[in-house]
Amino acid sequence: MMQRPRGTRDLLPPESRLWQAVETVARETFGAFGSEEIRTPVFEPTELFVRSVGETTDIVHKEMYTFPDRKGRSLTLRPEGTAGVARAWLENRLGERTQPLRLYYIGPMFRYERMQRGRYRQFSQIGLEIVGADTPLADAELLAAMHEFFVRLGFADLVIHLNNLGDPEDRPRYQDAIRAALAPRREALCADCQRRLDENPLRVLDCKVPSCQVIAADVPAMDDVAGDASRQHVARVEAQLERLGIPFVRNRRLVRGLDYYLRTVFEVVSPQLGTNAVLCGGGRYDRLIADLGGPAVPGVGFAIGEDRLVEVLPAAFAAAALARPTVYLVPIGAAAQERALELARAWVRDGVAVEVEITGRSLKAALKRADRDGVRIVAMLGDDELAGGTVTVRDLALASQTALPLAALPGFWRALPPAPAKP
Ligand code: ATP
Ligand code: MG
Repeated sequence: MMQRPRGTRDLLPPESRLWQAVETVARETFGAFGSEEIRTPVFEPTELFVRSVGETTDIVHKEMYTFPDRKGRSLTLRPEGTAGVARAWLENRLGERTQPLRLYYIGPMFRYERMQRGRYRQFSQIGLEIVGADTPLADAELLAAMHEFFVRLGFADLVIHLNNLGDPEDRPRYQDAIRAALAPRREALCADCQRRLDENPLRVLDCKVPSCQVIAADVPAMDDVAGDASRQHVARVEAQLERLGIPFVRNRRLVRGLDYYLRTVFEVVSPQLGTNAVLCGGGRYDRLIADLGGPAVPGVGFAIGEDRLVEVLPAAFAAAALARPTVYLVPIGAAAQERALELARAWVRDGVAVEVEITGRSLKAALKRADRDGVRIVAMLGDDELAGGTVTVRDLALASQTALPLAALPGFWRALPPAPAKP
């Protein structure tokens, strides 16, 4: 039997309802903060990610799905969303529009990862970018939109970790400081980190190997090495968060896995997730568009891991999303079957979700099926009902039954009281 590739998933009903509900909240929330959706290709020239994400990052170094197309051009399935947004900004001359642009995206990303819980080779991210604003207010607004999204989903236990990564001018000084601090313990680092120490010492701070994390805990913080401009920038972001009552902690080791970040960087951590606890990562990337050959356009953004988010979705939100009320219309007899779709369409046009019994189940079998699938409202249409222009409606949650004129069903449906909680 054919099987899906490792690290991919089939998203089935009813779980797909959770994803839809989450995405609806994302669209509503980010839209309310003035952003609009952008959809960029799922594959891009490989060079885009090498230049933006960075050659020495784990993503470019070992996680990309890269392949030649039929003409031998090197393409890569996008491992993240910001590079494509930056490319689209340049290619479509979005700089000619009023700045800033607030853009959100929702879609699949691809990374060749080792398989473990919360880590997939195709996963989905929900991201938001503010391009064309370099102020601390932009970072704070972005974080406020992110926080509002999590609040609307009902999260109460998430922690925002925030750090200052400094400006690019500070980077060499910081790299020297890390090298100096870690040189004596080089042999104790994992093989990857020994390479990182030479190529890109910041990456050592991002290593997942526990013994490396212990060693990395002793290196100086970027904030101690950074210049005034970045420190004041991040301090003003923090002041805004305090004003907004958005809780955060300063995590002086936070560096993030992409090269293009500077100044503000952050992660959102869920205590429920264990090892792969990071739900969301983001930061400021003022040099990214310039590095891709464009003008110096600042930006700030984040990406939420939707797979992990759905895994820890608050129970009340999940329950509401999974409760999908429909009317189950059961025609009894040939004449009723002839009428069923016509009736269903009229109700659908009036705002009702209707599921028609199209397989010809008997009433008894239909009621059994309703019970099994948790259907609450069964609308029965038999010869008597047809003759009288009515429908018999049974509420399985309340164990009650009434006859209604056909046109009255949508009103009945809208006025339905919530089902009593199951014992
Ligand atoms: P990690 O440190 O866990 O590898 P990352 O730094 O590589 O994460 P980002 O590039 O910041 O992750 O992506 C943002 C979010 O996307 C992550 O916080 C996570 O929730 C999610 N994510 C990243 N990689 C995966 C994956 N392979 N499977 C599922 N979700 C992922
Ligand atoms: Mg990663």
